[in-house]
Amino acid sequence: MKPKILIVEDEPAIADTIQYALETDGFATEILNSGGPALPLLKAEKIALIVLDIGLPDINGIELCKKIRTLSDVPIIFLTARSDEIDRVVGLEIGGDDYVTKPFSPRELAARVKAVLRRVKGDPSPAGKTVFSLDTEKCRIAYFGTRLDLSKYEYNLLTVFINRPGRVFSRDRLMELAWDEPDASMDRTVDAHIKNLRAKLKTIRPDIDPILTHRGMGYSLKEGL
Ligand code: CA
Repeated sequence: MKPKILIVEDEPAIADTIQYALETDGFATEILNSGGPALPLLKAEKIALIVLDIGLPDINGIELCKKIRTLSDVPIIFLTARSDEIDRVVGLEIGGDDYVTKPFSPRELAARVKAVLRRVKGDPSPAGKTVFSLDTEKCRIAYFGTRLDLSKYEYNLLTVFINRPGRVFSRDRLMELAWDEPDASMDRTVDAHIKNLRAKLKTIRPDIDPILTHRGMGYSLKEGL
């Protein structure tokens, strides 16, 4: 059976374009032009992923995502017409898996859909499986076969990245995930630890920087290393 993608988008031209691209790539699709029916539909049908517009007529896509998260971990890719950073960060903070800014190419969106599905299915990402090897019992990480000498927070940070290659994490989110007592005012601490982490990785492979900086947004681990 083809995996079904739910498209929640009120602009018919955009919804149709997405539908065409995804069906060409072998997905089944269903379009909703408002957010209201999404929750009942999720309960009734098996949905592999949701493409969710933020600007919907009845409910904001971010609010809808929060509601969806109370009952399902279904992957969500946001569509946003606003290119400002706040929308993007907010979109990822509340449990979205990726976002695409309008105008976008339907091919690009289809590629993102496939990438998110691969990630969620836990297919070995090259970055996660071969470049890094994680020993969670001994709290050790090896990089290209060489064991890294990491502080507690460097270890925690790198583990967060390895478990979700490609995902952009804001500084606040990293603080929450890697620190015992998150403190938003310690923002720069994340930067300092990332800097040390990069330096340690660089001693092993000076030619590669696997941690990407997303200006105004945060950091991610490079995919497909
Ligand atoms: Ca819209």
